[in-house]
Amino acid sequence: MDPPMKSNFHDAVAPGSGWTGDLATSTTPVAPRSGPVEQLAKTSPDLRELSARVSVCRACPRLVRWREDVARTKKKAFSGEQYWGRPAPGFGDEHAGLVIVGLAPAAHGANRTGRVFTGDRTGDFLIAAMHRTGFANQAHSTDADDGLELYGARLLSAVRCAPPKNLPTPQEQRNCAPWLDRELELVAPRVILALGGIGWRASCLALERAGWEVPKPRPKFGHGEQFTVAAGAERIAVVGSYHPSQQNTFTGKLTEEMLDAVLHRCREIVKGERNY
Ligand code: SF4
Repeated sequence: MDPPMKSNFHDAVAPGSGWTGDLATSTTPVAPRSGPVEQLAKTSPDLRELSARVSVCRACPRLVRWREDVARTKKKAFSGEQYWGRPAPGFGDEHAGLVIVGLAPAAHGANRTGRVFTGDRTGDFLIAAMHRTGFANQAHSTDADDGLELYGARLLSAVRCAPPKNLPTPQEQRNCAPWLDRELELVAPRVILALGGIGWRASCLALERAGWEVPKPRPKFGHGEQFTVAAGAERIAVVGSYHPSQQNTFTGKLTEEMLDAVLHRCREIVKGERNY
């Protein structure tokens, strides 16, 4: 295997240049293609190093081009802003009982702000719900400097780079899987809240790769669906929720009450107040 290489970040924020929450430096190893992702993920000793390595990954050529193109061309409303233009690592409590797995960063959301579920309507909807249910200190998530803190929860996405049309290819999902696997291993949550069908499938696959016995046939995704994997005394519950994207929240497919209800359920499981 070739050694990890450093690389030039073109229109994106340079690692270690002072962006709030940037854990990478100019010496953080870069995965230039999919093979090294697995090695770099597996050898990350802790979440800080894992997040640093995620944030400089360049393993998917199409997504690297797209995220940097978006960072250069920008949306009119944000034309005066520097865009992050790099993968969005996980954010929140390092020992979270609840991990929330979304799809991928939004082009003008996390790809702009550098923090997952931050700077777009999807993040607004989710963080407001997390605030109502006691998982966040505030109801808004506008930028990396907004003071957001999560309590007992960690946010991440199955694919860490913004994809065109919000649709990563199956190969890109596979490329990114080792980052997810290692993050789940390091956090060791009691509950995974999977947002949308891709978050659900990615969570099931990650659990299978980690050796958990996911029921067969694999449980179908649906809002409020739930299953548990167990090994000895250890258990992880997987709960499904419709993704809080605008196409679901604007149409009423996902309401505030529905999202609050699954988050309350996750809280009860984490606290041991509900059998699972
Ligand atoms: Fe790397 Fe994942 Fe981004 Fe692909 S999607 S470049 S594997 S961080």
